[in-house]
Amino acid sequence: MMIEKVLIANRGEIALRVIKTCKRLGIKTVAVYSDEDINSLHVKQATEAYHIGEAAPAKSYLNQEKILDVMLSSGSDAVHPGYGFLSENDDFARLCEKNKINFIGPSADSMNLCGDKMECKSAMLKAHVPTVPGSPGLVKDADDAEKIANEIGYPVMLKSVYGGGGRGIRIVTNDKELQEGFDTVTSESIAAVGKSAIIVEKFLEKTRHIEYQMCRDKHGNAVHLFERECSIQRRNQKLIEQTPSPVVDDVKREEIGEIVVRAAEAVDYTNLGTAEFLRADNGEFYFIEINARLQVEHPISEMVSGLDFVKLQLDIANGEPLPFKQSDLKMNGYAIECRINAEDTFLDFAPSTGPVPDVTIPSGPNVRCDTYLYPGCTVSPFYDSLMAKLVTWGQTFEESRTRMLSALSDFYIQGVETSIPLYKTILETDEYKNGDLSTDFLKRYDVIDRLTKDLKNEQEEKSDAALAAAIIHSEYFKSRAQNSTANNTNWKYKLD
Ligand code: ADP
Ligand code: MG
Repeated sequence: MMIEKVLIANRGEIALRVIKTCKRLGIKTVAVYSDEDINSLHVKQATEAYHIGEAAPAKSYLNQEKILDVMLSSGSDAVHPGYGFLSENDDFARLCEKNKINFIGPSADSMNLCGDKMECKSAMLKAHVPTVPGSPGLVKDADDAEKIANEIGYPVMLKSVYGGGGRGIRIVTNDKELQEGFDTVTSESIAAVGKSAIIVEKFLEKTRHIEYQMCRDKHGNAVHLFERECSIQRRNQKLIEQTPSPVVDDVKREEIGEIVVRAAEAVDYTNLGTAEFLRADNGEFYFIEINARLQVEHPISEMVSGLDFVKLQLDIANGEPLPFKQSDLKMNGYAIECRINAEDTFLDFAPSTGPVPDVTIPSGPNVRCDTYLYPGCTVSPFYDSLMAKLVTWGQTFEESRTRMLSALSDFYIQGVETSIPLYKTILETDEYKNGDLSTDFLKRYDVIDRLTKDLKNEQEEKSDAALAAAIIHSEYFKSRAQNSTANNTNWKYKLD
């Protein structure tokens, strides 16, 4: 049966993104919302909307039973999980399968395999996909981890196999840090997903994060939809993404692309997903993990491929064969995405929340902004800090970069701190312009110091400009005052 009504088990910009494609295709949409989201746009734009509980995610967007109730009572035949929340929860995928709801994503079994970084790495090793050197399996305890760390040599990365979104991973440089880091990773992972199991990996220095979009239908046809470079990060979380990567040429793209197709087959992956790699400074690629869902940064790949990824997801979920072969796919132009977060760069990226009385969303040729913002909305402390994704396209990298700078300066968000000033600084650095990227870019090039200087200069320019404007204004008002006195006199005179 073809999908006719989709429940979107998410909120914010990604819920709106999914609604957009469904609307175009004439597919009905069902929104769910928490107390906090009563006034959110996804509630207004969906065909139907149902309240599912309190603000805390555990009481609403993570409440599987409640969401299942709504799916059944609303007659939804499919569910789109977005990213975050239940999107990579194989229990939820299984629950949907059992209830004959089409889960728009991979099968529960495949998701289970991808969700365990160690199991997934083992499957990759079998398929001859290169992975980051590290412990052959889970480490038993901190002492076991220490033994392995000394074998492979510091620095190493401690990772919970269930981690995600930059949580549950820690770099350690000696035995003492390892003992502390082990506890931190364990508690972060337990806080996030209720369990922890740790692996040790060699920490690769000056690496780039380069990932590939995988795409595989239910008949075993697979392609890759090119790469994205996501090396500009803070706390192991992505800030700016771009495609193509400055260090991937056609030959490399095809070489790694073939590995990616093998990776998708190795875990029997269906639908869209992402294979993440680290590229060491010597040019070698190492697989790190699969994200079994639609990726936050998918719009940049949409822009260079010309495809609507949500439509592709729906078609694959409907059992349709891929309408193209690898050789049909061509990459066109350059795209950049900036994740516009509500956070204070100077307070170690702490979330900044509250009402947004006014906002101006940038637009223009080849500018795309996926956002839940509207004047009068609120940035909630309960959810992700991502408010908007600003995406630009250009025929050249330079065109897309300058377009981004101009769009960033048009973006006005009143009431909360944002990452916009930081992005302006990054995009103006020679290192960024030259494609000299690495996951430690912010530290390596003292970007926060540069931002401080940029803001100071801006402040000075502003006060100079303000002073000049004040002088012009006062001249203008002086002459107006004189005129109006003259007029008043005339008027008075007339009346008399
Ligand atoms: P998550 O599940 O949080 O996304 P990942 O394993 O994908 O975790 O890693 C997130 C980021 O952490 C990477 O993009 C990279 O910046 C850094 N990272 C992960 N593993 C390593 C490693 N072995 N060496 C160096 N950096 C790493
Ligand atoms: Mg990752």
